[in-house]
Amino acid sequence: MDETALPGTPDVVLIGAGIMSATLGTMLKELDPSLSIVMLETLQDCAQESSEAWNNAGTGHAANCELNYTPQRPDGSVDISRALEVNTEFDLARQLWSYLVTKGAIPDPRAFIHPCPHMSMVWGKENVDFLRARYQAMSAHHCYHGMEYSEDRNQIAAWAPLTIEGRAEDEVIAATRIVTGADVDYGSLTHLLVAQLTAQPGFSVHYKHRVTGLTRDDAGRWRVDVVDAERELLCEVFAKFVFIGAGGGAIELLQKSDIPEGHGYGGFPVSGIWLRCDAPDVSARHHAKVYGKAAHGSPPMSVPHLDTRIIGGTKSLLFGPYAGFSTRFLKHGSLTDLFRSIEPGNILPMLAVARDDAQLSEYLIGQVLQTSAHQFAALQEFYPTAKRHDWREAVAGQRVQIIKPDQAHTGVLEFGTELVAAADRSLVALLGASPGASTAAAIAIHVLQKCFPDRLTESGWLPKLKQIIPTYGIDLTRDADACRTTRAATAPVLKLENV
Ligand SMILES: Cc1cc2nc3c(=O)[nH]c(=O)nc-3n(C[C@H](O)[C@H](O)[C@H](O)COP(=O)(O)OP(=O)(O)OC[C@H]3O[C@@H](n4cnc5c(N)ncnc54)[C@H](O)[C@@H]3O)c2cc1C
Repeated sequence: MDETALPGTPDVVLIGAGIMSATLGTMLKELDPSLSIVMLETLQDCAQESSEAWNNAGTGHAANCELNYTPQRPDGSVDISRALEVNTEFDLARQLWSYLVTKGAIPDPRAFIHPCPHMSMVWGKENVDFLRARYQAMSAHHCYHGMEYSEDRNQIAAWAPLTIEGRAEDEVIAATRIVTGADVDYGSLTHLLVAQLTAQPGFSVHYKHRVTGLTRDDAGRWRVDVVDAERELLCEVFAKFVFIGAGGGAIELLQKSDIPEGHGYGGFPVSGIWLRCDAPDVSARHHAKVYGKAAHGSPPMSVPHLDTRIIGGTKSLLFGPYAGFSTRFLKHGSLTDLFRSIEPGNILPMLAVARDDAQLSEYLIGQVLQTSAHQFAALQEFYPTAKRHDWREAVAGQRVQIIKPDQAHTGVLEFGTELVAAADRSLVALLGASPGASTAAAIAIHVLQKCFPDRLTESGWLPKLKQIIPTYGIDLTRDADACRTTRAATAPVLKLENV
């Protein structure tokens, strides 16, 4: 039970106890230990929604293997610009985590991160041509130094034997591999971050405390209305700055804040199902995250992959996700979430998306209608000799895609993440789901730049920020030396491979 009294007037309120609030809280406390911060969470513990280990795939997204970040141009060449952005955002996470490990705030990186090669694997001539062109474009860039490519089944079998055993001899296949990849237990990481925050003066976390309202008071602070479920009390907190890091709950709270910048936003929930295998004789034979090519019309986060997971010291395999449709915005949310989020300001954008995104609707309907036999057949495309009895279904976290007001079309569906901030920088909401937890450090830095520009100065937070993130202000996609140096520095601290 959470016994801490709720401080009435903290500097900062963080809504939600997932990886995003935990990361922002950590950065703020490092930059200014005198800040008083209150974290409010509906559930009984931190990291129980998307950040929980089994609710996400745990990929340390560096856009090594996810083919959706590298679209093919009409001339056959491959555009790697978005991949480079995601790739170097992960370097920011590596620097923050290395800083915390070096400082002793996180005792052992193996509690949350493990080296795990990232692979892309495709079959069929057209896909092989695409992967070859992608490899040529990526391996020529310093960010993807060390990427390997093969069309040889013996080589691919050496990398990931389960993907080759039982596959037709004449099947045209290709794979890339990058050994510097990682499997991350974001649930464990969130617990570690919240624990080190709680050990600091001026920080408190309050579980079973649901935020129900956000209004400005006459002094320009935010009044945060809270239901304390344990004590069955209504209470309030007044804060100068509020971060809405409520995952799927963020849209509703943004609407409650009524800031003009949030008008017109809506959310589109996508649920997910995994197949999970805990059989040690199977999981011992696969050590990689193997991403395939997305089905036509599928949202980017639904690209199937066969993943090694290392959670609580135990190795398992995960396959999926199979997307589905649910009207809940959170796994522990309500079936009415979607309907409650519809308001006069966002009905047109939402209808526009329903009208224009026929491909997505078609994809989701197809996924929902899939039987478990179809799902297992999809796994066998990756792992031909998979046995049904080794695998069971597991429910993944919910993702709420952003529906954004847009002048030309009246509404567009976005697959990324977006920070929506009040003009006076006193409140910011994080919407969206991809690339996700891997970019928590990059998102926290964006919050600092958006909402605390007057503190990010040489006489303010900047020197400390550069100590935490030594490459702050350097574009790692252009500066090859800085990129090599930071990777060589963070790999041994996090016990990752370096090439
Ligand atoms: C199927 C799937 C696969 C994924 N795979 C990956 C991956 O491989 N790599 C990756 O980097 N990312 C991945 N992600 C994305 C990643 O999990 C999320 O981006 C990340 O966990 C979001 O963190 P968060 O803190 O914003 O949200 P959450 O972890 O969902 O936390 C939000 C918290 O806010 C609380 N909350 C909500 N409303 C309120 C309220 N009114 N009052 C108080 N508390 C409230 C919730 O209870 C919850 O605890 C995946 C996600 C899914 C669903």
